[in-house]
Amino acid sequence: MCHAFINDTSFYHFLYQVDLDIASKVQRQPCQYCDGVLHSARYPRKPRGPRHCLTEDYETRFSFCCAEEDCRRRTTPPSVRYLGRKVYLGVIIILITALNHGLSRSRRQQLFDQLEVNPQTFYRWLKWWREFFPATRCWQSARGLFLPPVNVVQLPGSLLGRFMGRDLQQRLCQFLQLLLPLSSTFCPGYIRVAIDPQKM
Ligand SMILES: [Zn+2]
Repeated sequence: MCHAFINDTSFYHFLYQVDLDIASKVQRQPCQYCDGVLHSARYPRKPRGPRHCLTEDYETRFSFCCAEEDCRRRTTPPSVRYLGRKVYLGVIIILITALNHGLSRSRRQQLFDQLEVNPQTFYRWLKWWREFFPATRCWQSARGLFLPPVNVVQLPGSLLGRFMGRDLQQRLCQFLQLLLPLSSTFCPGYIRVAIDPQKM
């Protein structure tokens, strides 16, 4: 399995473009609370992982603030880059935990070092996949799409293997698309993203 794209700036730029597209769709809509206009109010972020491949676009997350004086509430669009408040990029969390079974111990350590992941973090992610994720509404509504059922004991590798993308990059993008509802508390129905890294 080829992981060269982990160090490929264009892959991360592609994910940024997808987030930009989602954010502009959200901004075209009125405030979800009062119908006011949404103004940009990005969050600062400092994602861990392949830092040398990330441009300054990764120092913020798209977010909006209502322009109405008596509202001012925040709307943060879903993201294929940031999985909620997790400090690592979503793609790194999927990749490292999904490859758990297929890597030799030394190769795994090499990836850990390269992406600044420590073993405690890794085991916390595995626990998240196996204990928290299966109970989420996101998974409860998506799991019926997969037949035979996905083995939750082997998440996320068992799910990554079900996507029909041409290569690992594309399957990861499809996975990130499925996780969109977990990336933000706001995931409206009009968010439709076409994710094809071959077009990046
Ligand atoms: Zn408002």
